[in-house]
Amino acid sequence: MSASACIFCQIARIPTTTRLLYQDELVVAFQDINPSAFRHYLVIPIEHIPTVKNLQRGQQHYTLVTHMLNVGKSLLQQDAAQSNEHRFGFHQPPFNSVDHLHLHCLALPFIPW
Ligand SMILES: [Zn+2]
Ligand SMILES: [Zn+2]
Repeated sequence: MSASACIFCQIARIPTTTRLLYQDELVVAFQDINPSAFRHYLVIPIEHIPTVKNLQRGQQHYTLVTHMLNVGKSLLQQDAAQSNEHRFGFHQPPFNSVDHLHLHCLALPFIPW
């Protein structure tokens, strides 16, 4: 899939109706459209990286992933400080909902089905 057809690239690069919770030159954060917990945010790199498998071993991507985690942590700290459990995770291929690297940031409790 090309970057231009990627929904997350569109959110990151083009003004859309998606409300951004955070943005800087490396990442953007927004709410998951299908939240599964009290707070459920996604942090994505602006650069189109399909999956964790495409991350390079090196300072640049290490810094990027660390930054994504820090952004997620501070958003949950700010919005869900009362939640007793914060969880963070990447999908591992082949379990990718969208082929653009994204960090799920959840503040429990989970929303019951
Ligand atoms: Zn993308
Ligand atoms: Zn996902």
